[in-house]
Amino acid sequence: MSVVANGIGRCELGGWLALVALLLLPVACNPTTSAGTSPDNGVSIGQQEAATGAGVSVGSSSPEGSTAADVSGNDPPAAREARERLVRQIEIFDKPWGKGEGWDPRVLDGMRKVRRHLFMPGASIATSYRDTPYPIGYGQTISQPTVVALMTHALKLKGTETVLEIGTGSGYQAAVLSRLVKALYTIEIVAPLGEKAKQRLAELGYRNVHVRIGDGYQGWPEHAPFDRIILTAAPPAMPPALVRQLAPGGIIVAPVGDALQNLVRWTKVGGGLEKETLGAVRFVPMVPGE
Ligand code: SAH
Repeated sequence: MSVVANGIGRCELGGWLALVALLLLPVACNPTTSAGTSPDNGVSIGQQEAATGAGVSVGSSSPEGSTAADVSGNDPPAAREARERLVRQIEIFDKPWGKGEGWDPRVLDGMRKVRRHLFMPGASIATSYRDTPYPIGYGQTISQPTVVALMTHALKLKGTETVLEIGTGSGYQAAVLSRLVKALYTIEIVAPLGEKAKQRLAELGYRNVHVRIGDGYQGWPEHAPFDRIILTAAPPAMPPALVRQLAPGGIIVAPVGDALQNLVRWTKVGGGLEKETLGAVRFVPMVPGE
């Protein structure tokens, strides 16, 4: 099977689901909460979407807060229905990697709760809930929902983790992750994108998300070690700083490669890394910092 469109393409490769997350052009197969301002360049933002009726537990201490006004004001029935259809589609037609592995219900729940249309200003509800990537400016895209779900699932989250994301983009993947983890640190190299995402996430109340404008190749040493690291842009090879900042037993999920990319999951075991290749993908390249 093939596919794609700025987000994903899937192909069955020897029983594994291979995907292509393309970020722009159509391509082929492919509560916690720290309130307040975080140290260094980060800014704490919150978790309020989760605190509403629409909220999801995030970690053991995540308050299911409440933003009824936010939800009612920004979640028209058409959006709710479109999101439900999208999640059902992901649930039925896509399978997480791994033999016989079923979806982590928390991942699907997160996908159900995050209002993607709020991360895509200017896009219609119908467009916002299509399973495709979508341009967010600066040559970047919001990831395809299926790719977001698959990568989130691949992180094997329990809810207690401190997570680093490279490539904040619109903040959508960060919003989904924030509902499933204790704390999320996310780095964006394109300042206007990062600032916008920071503001958006703050307005939505994602208090356990910390956004930094900077170069993901360097990671965020002040908050290391991380239990999980996710890259939503593809480096040619895994940046050594990120490996150093991964906690023992931790997991990195990342697209790696140039023209040909694989989605890879590394687990830090003992002194080394165990590598699993999950499938072929296509992401936007990770840009080297200055
Ligand atoms: N996760 C995003 C989509 C990411 S697109 C979402 O949910 O919307 C990839 C993002 O990675 C882009 O915003 C791009 O600017 C960013 N990026 C590329 N190279 C980077 C680097 N070295 N450090 C941090 N961010 C980087």
